[in-house]
Parts: sequence; C-alpha cells; structure tokens
Amino acid sequence: MRLILWDVDGTLLSTDGIAAEAMREAMRRVVGPAAPMERTAYAGKTDWQIIRESFPTLPPDTIAERLQEFVETYLGLLEARRDALVARSRVFPGVVAALEALETVGYQAPLTGNIAAVAQLKLECVGLTAYLDLAAGAYGDDHYHRPDLVPIAAARAAARYGQSFHANQIVIVGDTPNDIACGKLNGARTVAVATGPYPLEELLAHHPDAALPDLTDVAAVMAAVVGT
Ligand SMILES: [Mg+2]
Repeated sequence: MRLILWDVDGTLLSTDGIAAEAMREAMRRVVGPAAPMERTAYAGKTDWQIIRESFPTLPPDTIAERLQEFVETYLGLLEARRDALVARSRVFPGVVAALEALETVGYQAPLTGNIAAVAQLKLECVGLTAYLDLAAGAYGDDHYHRPDLVPIAAARAAARYGQSFHANQIVIVGDTPNDIACGKLNGARTVAVATGPYPLEELLAHHPDAALPDLTDVAAVMAAVVGT
C-alpha cells in the first residue's frame, strides 16, 4: 500500500477565511504589528516556520517559547469560532469521493503546516476525520521545515501499519509550490491541485508529477496519485 499525504488548506477544504483571521489575530498578539499579513505569505508554510520568520533574530529556545504561546493563542481563538467554522467551512468538490476511492490504493493521512490540534479541529468541523488517519500524519508543530514532515509521517505510518514506506510509495497532494518542493525533496510522487491561491499554470511551472484543476474527476485523481 502507498502512503498518501494530504495538505489541508486549499487542498481539502477552505475555512472561508475564519482560520486566517484567527491566525492574524494570534500573530498580532504574539508577534506584534510587524507580522506579515498577506494571504500567500503563509501558503504552504508550517506554522512553526511562520513564527521563526517573524522573529529572525531570536534564538531557537526563545522561538520555541513563542511557538507555544502562538499555539495556545491561535487554538483558543479558533475554538471560540468553532460554530462559525462548522457553518462556513467547506470541503472542496470531489474530495470525499476521491478519499473514498483512494482507500483501495493507499493509507491516507494529513501532511500540513497546521499545528496538529488546528488540523484536527478544521477536519472535524467538515467531517473529514473519518477518511484520514490523523495519528499517521505530520504537522506544523512537528518541524518548522515542511520537507522534514515527510519522514515523520512515514515513520508514524510505518509504526501504525507495520510496513515501511519507501519514497516511491509516498504521494504528496497539495495546492502550493511548497507542497511540490516538499515531495520532490523526499523523492515522493507529487500531485498538485489548483484549488488554493496558485493557478494551475503556476503549479505546473514547478513540475509536479501530476496536476489537476480540482478533485472532481475521480478517475483523474486516481491516475494522478497512482501514476501510469
Ligand atoms: Mg495548502
């Protein structure tokens, strides 16, 4: 079996700006007014990386403290918005059918820059936790460098399923150039999907193994993930 690792935001779901708003508020509280606020400033980055880049001169142990402070603030703000998340978040078209179809060819887990608790909250609010093994995933509080999340997820999946996953058995699905780079650096198969902030042509310029406009064509998703 393969290990299919899914990015969350822009790939599986949108929180209609609710999570971004909570993150900006948490950044304002923890980082201050100098925090970067553009939409693509965070795309494909881990939450830990965002905190590191926000404090370029701080030593690593102080960064870890700030990360913890950020995690608590951000999670608290999101929990307070749970009703809005449930009401306004949406799963992108085709996602559920794709996840169901791919169950026959691989284990599926999140690989996301979101801290684990935030990823879980977002996935719970849209009912996707039934399709993904959260304990086999890797998250933005596991490592600041997204490519380093792949071996973490592979090790967790190996422990859970009793099989090791070599690079050629791992598939990364995501909506940004950072997702593609993360897969390539690990020798994994990369599938880009243009449901986030990057148009298809821009994703294609980063040479993913496959690229899709969205996940609505289950046969196309299957072919993209499995390869030919
Ligand atoms: Mg994304």
